Amino acid sequence: MIITLPNEAPKGLIGEVNAKIAASGNTSNVDRGEKTTVVGVRGFVSPQLEEEMRAIVGEANVRRISEPYKEASRTFHPKDTVFEVAPGIMAGGQNLLLAAGPCAVESLEQTLEAAEAAQKAGAKVLRGGAFKPRTGPYSFQGLGEEGLEILAIAKERTGMPIVSEILSPDDIALFEKYGVDILQVGARNVQNYTLLKALAHVKKPILIKNGLSTRTDVWLQSVEYLLSGYDGENHNGGGNPNVILCSRGVDFGSDASKYPMDIAMISHLRTKTHLPVIGDPSHQAGYRDKVIDVGLAMIASGAGGLEVDVHLNPKAAKVDGPQALSFNQLQLLFSLGTEIWEIRKKLPNNYRSYDATLTQ
Ligand code: PEP
Ligand code: MN
Repeated sequence: MIITLPNEAPKGLIGEVNAKIAASGNTSNVDRGEKTTVVGVRGFVSPQLEEEMRAIVGEANVRRISEPYKEASRTFHPKDTVFEVAPGIMAGGQNLLLAAGPCAVESLEQTLEAAEAAQKAGAKVLRGGAFKPRTGPYSFQGLGEEGLEILAIAKERTGMPIVSEILSPDDIALFEKYGVDILQVGARNVQNYTLLKALAHVKKPILIKNGLSTRTDVWLQSVEYLLSGYDGENHNGGGNPNVILCSRGVDFGSDASKYPMDIAMISHLRTKTHLPVIGDPSHQAGYRDKVIDVGLAMIASGAGGLEVDVHLNPKAAKVDGPQALSFNQLQLLFSLGTEIWEIRKKLPNNYRSYDATLTQ
């Protein structure tokens, strides 16, 4: 349920609304906009509380949230969520979060050279998979704990925070031990609800990809597992508020890209959720000759960041060599991407409903 009040409403009214919400055992999110203040009530809303709200603020100002992903929805939380992924590095809002690194951590040398290249090209976060979810059992599965150890060394040398994919709740302690800054949920685990429930209680931010065949509402319900921390009894959130969505395309036949992505996907996500949304042009395109175009298009359509594969010797890469950018390509993508992001800031706030003929 959300309660929308004009900002000129009597001061005591929001206090009264919040007191009633607290007395019912619920908590709330108060979002003050330019003209209205939106109070989102967390958790299960009893008919009694709904009735009380309607009595205090009037029928027209009380609305049930229809999306099955309340905490993740923009309706509940109209303003962009902005948070620090590591000291001084922000996600969401006006911030552009640039992450790059090898698809998989293969050795200390390979990871360090990719990390240094990524940093020089403008990346603020180092990516690298230690646990790789592979389609076939005979493919390289990642170095596991040794990979996390290598990432920790790269982090110490470069000062870059690290993002790495987690496959099992059993590994959370290991990720904490090696100081992984952002835990990634990959396309193959978006509907691994046991993993999502466990990650709801981790103190680090989560980067969650879309699944290979998840529609947006299914993906956002997975995000809801992370945000709500709902355990069947606790209706009041208490999950992990720091979640980044990363769009990476879906498994649908195309001879242009490996995982085609709806060109409106990022725009759509940004209307549906207040959380930071970034894109992964490497796994989307699948081939390096298209990654720059796709990455720039992602930013142009509203992606507040990118996660990109880079490898200094892609022919020798154990995973995803054909999609890895060279240092020069990464630098091009990040520098032009940053310019495009700045140009986007010229869009008026109401551009989605903007109609020049109506305003003249
Ligand atoms: C990855 O980023 O290394 C990865 C495996 O991505 P995805 O889960 O999107 O396939
Ligand atoms: Mn990969």
